Amino acid sequence: MPKILIVGGGYAGFYTALKLERSLRPGEAEVTIVDPLPYMTYQPFLPEIAAGSIDPRHAVVSHRRHLEKTTILTAKVTGISHATKTATITPEIGDPWEFEYDIIVVTAGSVSRTFPIPGVADQAIGLKTIEEATAIRDRILTNFDKAALLPAGAARDRLLTFTVVGGGFAGIEVFGELRSLATDLLRYYPTLSFDDTHFHLIEATGRIMPEVSVKTSLWVIKSYAQRGAQIHLETQLTSAVDGVIQLSTGESFETDLIVWTAGVMASPTMRHTDLPVEERGRLRVQADLRVVNDDGVVEGAWGAGDVSAVPDLTGDGIAGYCVPNAQHAVRQGKLMAKNITATLRGDLPRDYFHKNLGAVATLGLGQGAFQAGKIGITGVPAWFMHRGYHGLAVPMWERKIRVFSGWALNLFLRRDIVSLEARETPREAFATVAARPKV
Ligand SMILES: Cc1cc2nc3c(=O)[nH]c(=O)nc-3n(C[C@H](O)[C@H](O)[C@H](O)COP(=O)(O)OP(=O)(O)OC[C@H]3O[C@@H](n4cnc5c(N)ncnc54)[C@H](O)[C@@H]3O)c2cc1C
Repeated sequence: MPKILIVGGGYAGFYTALKLERSLRPGEAEVTIVDPLPYMTYQPFLPEIAAGSIDPRHAVVSHRRHLEKTTILTAKVTGISHATKTATITPEIGDPWEFEYDIIVVTAGSVSRTFPIPGVADQAIGLKTIEEATAIRDRILTNFDKAALLPAGAARDRLLTFTVVGGGFAGIEVFGELRSLATDLLRYYPTLSFDDTHFHLIEATGRIMPEVSVKTSLWVIKSYAQRGAQIHLETQLTSAVDGVIQLSTGESFETDLIVWTAGVMASPTMRHTDLPVEERGRLRVQADLRVVNDDGVVEGAWGAGDVSAVPDLTGDGIAGYCVPNAQHAVRQGKLMAKNITATLRGDLPRDYFHKNLGAVATLGLGQGAFQAGKIGITGVPAWFMHRGYHGLAVPMWERKIRVFSGWALNLFLRRDIVSLEARETPREAFATVAARPKV
């Protein structure tokens, strides 16, 4: 039986495995998926998780529960030698070992892309994982608790100043969601007022959200300004050392939270493979998702999602390639499963072709923006569209039901506002009181 190895169980990898389970006949191939995380993350929900509007567990999909016919290895692939068709699997505990495969599927996704700005690596947090989103939520909630006990002044200002770097979709969404959370929280903190909270988004270019029209993006900027959230356009972060933000405009302020959302790059896993990569570090694939090098198709190697440079045959892509988003990752994953099955049966694979459906963003409770071609919708209707679309797009019905019921309950019960930051030091309460042997 041919052995298929899927590297990465995120959006593209999860759907490839799910669809292979459905399309392969018994005994046709053996599928293994490797990911250091035991779940796929529905990243479009991260801004709402950071704002406490979605329970973090509801936005992750368990591999073991939903991939019943796939072998699951909760480990990392630390090297791929396609010349010998082996991948190095490195578990959390124990020695790495070599996995021999016949077909490799690379869906290792992307990671935050940063620049060497002083302080960023030490002070900022990304927004790519459920853990980061939860930590952001807890930081805001904890800071409100701390700030409520302080007199007005620099220390309190720092706790209540929140900064987002990057005005793409992820940045704009988390910025609006955090503003919305902070405004909501004020009702529980009589010693704090709206004017005590400060929100800054820093964007190097002259506009935000390139996926929407200029008109829609200007509406978003205006709406944020009315909500006390300032967007600094054509501004670069020059330093964040010790949480002191310095901007290229000369402005400076202190902040206790810096969320970095200024772009993504292909998973660094690609640096440890002999598979062909292009100049931006992405896997080179052709439109049917088979890996290619200068000599043509590399037999037995496939790629999709953020880690791959997939040609966009619609002509809408950036530099001819699909943009890194979930819309593409899910469809590419599904097609890749079909194409792999087809080639196993001696049939020809199909090319990937997907016309962009548009973009929809949440900007905080009751606020959204939608764009499809020339049609732009903003405000409450777009917010409902966002919830409707993403509530249905999260994989598996049991997840959709959890997300929709969570939203419905929050409408009546409001979001949870308790910080669980202490879970990061879970032994502290016990260790401080535990009896120790006398020496
Ligand atoms: C905040 C945010 C909001 C977003 N909102 C939207 C949106 O509204 N609409 C939209 O279309 N897109 C959105 N996106 C983008 C979308 O989520 C991604 O494009 C999509 O998840 C890419 O899927 P993927 O499978 O390529 O990568 P991922 O989903 O990132 O999965 C990659 C997987 O590979 C695993 N992995 C990495 N390295 C290894 C290794 N060495 N060995 C084994 N496993 C490995 C990772 O653990 C991960 O599970 C958003 C992204 C973010 C961060």
